[in-house]
Amino acid sequence: MYLKRRLSKSLTTFKGLYFGQKRKSFSTKRYQVTIGIGGNVGDVKRRFNHLLVFLQADVRVDIIKTSLILKNPPFGFIDQDDFFNSIIVLQVNMQARAFLDYLMRLEKKFGRCRSFANAPRTLDLDIIFFDNRVIKTDILTVPHVDWFNRESVTIPLAGMR
Ligand code: AMP
Repeated sequence: MYLKRRLSKSLTTFKGLYFGQKRKSFSTKRYQVTIGIGGNVGDVKRRFNHLLVFLQADVRVDIIKTSLILKNPPFGFIDQDDFFNSIIVLQVNMQARAFLDYLMRLEKKFGRCRSFANAPRTLDLDIIFFDNRVIKTDILTVPHVDWFNRESVTIPLAGMR
């Protein structure tokens, strides 16, 4: 069940049991991480819920809050279905690199198969912010490249309290 709100012709938000909710205000874990989640293949909202159930049960992460889900048009390769995106704020003890590996394992677990850049995807997980760190290595750029130009990040993020 979702509370659906149309923001414009192409943008719709969904508030649900797991999304658009404050979860925990206190965590003893060291780093606050903001991740972006997205997908446009199959029942994406259902997959997002499964991800939340998984994260909730995982002692390695504390879920602090979640944004609304935003349905928005694809960019880059535009001949594909609209995307669903959301933001999750977590606290973790993992270092950034270990956390990236963790996210990539989750992408695999939830069935992502990579084909080409901007291709349709079951679940895409990105680190938007990792504490207040600035990281630039071959495999990890934090804050995420161009996050401030992407409606899929800025709109859900702006609505979070
Ligand atoms: P994509 O799935 O298209 O978002 O690309 C994933 C790849 O981007 C991964 O293999 C990472 O090595 C790299 N990457 C660089 N910075 C980040 C980041 N902040 N979050 C997630 N992946 C990143």
